[in-house]
Amino acid sequence: MDFRGYSNVDLRRKALEKELRVKLSHIGNYSFDAKLASTKNCENMIGAVQIPLGVAGPLKLKSGELPVRNYYIPLATTEGALVASVNRGCKAICESNGANVYSYRVGATRGPVFYTGNLKNERKLYKWVKVNEDKIKKIAEKTSKHLKFKKLKFAGLGNYAFIRFSFDTGDAMGMNMATIAAQAITELIEKETGIKSLSLAGNYDVDKKASWMNFINHRGIKAWAEVVLSEKILKEILKIDSEKLFDVWLAKCMIGSAMSGSLGFNAHFANVIAAFYIATGQDPAHVVEGSLGITTMKVMPDKSLYTSVYLPSLMLGIIGGGTGLSTQKEAINLLKLDKKRSVLELAEVVAGSVLAGEISLLSSLAENSLVKAHKKFGRGENL
Ligand code: NAP
Repeated sequence: MDFRGYSNVDLRRKALEKELRVKLSHIGNYSFDAKLASTKNCENMIGAVQIPLGVAGPLKLKSGELPVRNYYIPLATTEGALVASVNRGCKAICESNGANVYSYRVGATRGPVFYTGNLKNERKLYKWVKVNEDKIKKIAEKTSKHLKFKKLKFAGLGNYAFIRFSFDTGDAMGMNMATIAAQAITELIEKETGIKSLSLAGNYDVDKKASWMNFINHRGIKAWAEVVLSEKILKEILKIDSEKLFDVWLAKCMIGSAMSGSLGFNAHFANVIAAFYIATGQDPAHVVEGSLGITTMKVMPDKSLYTSVYLPSLMLGIIGGGTGLSTQKEAINLLKLDKKRSVLELAEVVAGSVLAGEISLLSSLAENSLVKAHKKFGRGENL
C-alpha cells in the first residue's frame, strides 16, 4: 500500500479503508487508546490481536534484605499447558519457602560501526575514544533527563571499528533512548576525527540477535534465581525425585545444548519470557536475548535438589514502548512493584518465573508426562 501524501492518522485510515474496501469504524473500540497506539506503537493500524492472558502464582521471592514478597505472574500465551506448568513451579517454590533472587543493571547498548579505511585510522579512533570518554558521557546525557552513560567497548579490525556504548536508562528498557544518545556521540566522533559511521547499529550492540557477546558481556539487566526443593516437595508436587530430575537436566540442558551448539543451556527460558514480555508490553523481539542463560542443578546429601537460573541479558522496562498500553500497564501493576526498585524487581520476577518454568518442565520430562499435559491442556482432551 502506498501512503505517500497521507500525513495524519485519520487520512491514512481513510486510505486504508479505500484500499481494503472495509469500514474500520471499530478503530476506536479498543481497551487501549487507539489514537496513541496508532501513532506511537503501530503504523497502518487496522486492528488488534487478542492473546489470552493467564496468571501463575503466587510466586514467593526473596531479594537481598527486602521482605519476602508474593507475586502473581501475568502470562500472555496461546500455548496450552504453559501457565499450568509455571503455576506448578510457583507452587513448588512457595512450599520451599520461596526463591532467592538478585539482579544487576548492565545497561541498554547501541553499537555503531565506523569505516576507518585502514589500521592507522582505526588506532586514531581508538585513541580519541579513550581520551574523550568524559566528552562522550556529557553529550550522551544531554539527550535525556533519565539516561546515564555507563561504559564503552571498542573493537577494530581491517578498515572497520565497532563501539558498543552502554547506558543506564532508568525505568525504561531504553532502546530508543540509547539509540538517540548513540547518534549524538557518533556525530561528535565524526566531527572531531573525520571518521564516518557506516551504520548507527552495527550488530556489535547486539540487538535482537542471539550472540555470545550478550551472554558474556550482558545486556539490559542480568538476573539470578535459586531454590532448594526438598525430597517431599519433589515427590508431592513435582512427582519426581532429585536424581531423576538431575539426570534429565544434565542430559538435556548441558549435554544436549553442547551437542547442538545452543546458546541457551536451559529447558525453555524463551517460553516464559515471551509470555511475560507480551503480557507486560515489552518488545517481544527481545525474547532472543532473554532466551540466553543457564539452568543449574545439584543433588544435595539429603536428596533435596538445589536449582538455579542465570539470565545474562534481560531487556525490559516499566515505562516506554508497549508498557504504556492500558492492558499491559494493568499487567505490570498486578505485580505491585516497589517504586524504588521497579525495573530491577521486574527482572527478578522474570528470573523467579523462569525458575518455576524450568523446574516444572524438567520434572514433566523426567516423569514422562509432557505429552499427557499438552494433550490435556493444549488440546482439551479428557485423559
Ligand atoms: P521511549 O518511550 O522511547 O523512551 C522513554 C521515555 O520515557 C523517554 O522520553 C524518557 O525521558 C521518559 N521517562 C520518564 N520517566 C522515566 C524514567 N523514570 N526512566 C526512564 N525514562 C523515563 O522508550 P525506550 O525504552 O527508550 O524505547 C522502547 C521502544 O524502543 C520500544 O517500543 C521498542 O520496541 C523500541 N526499540 C527501538 C529501537 C531503536 O533502534 N530505536 C530498537 C529496539 C527497540 P527522557 O526524555 O528524559 O529520555
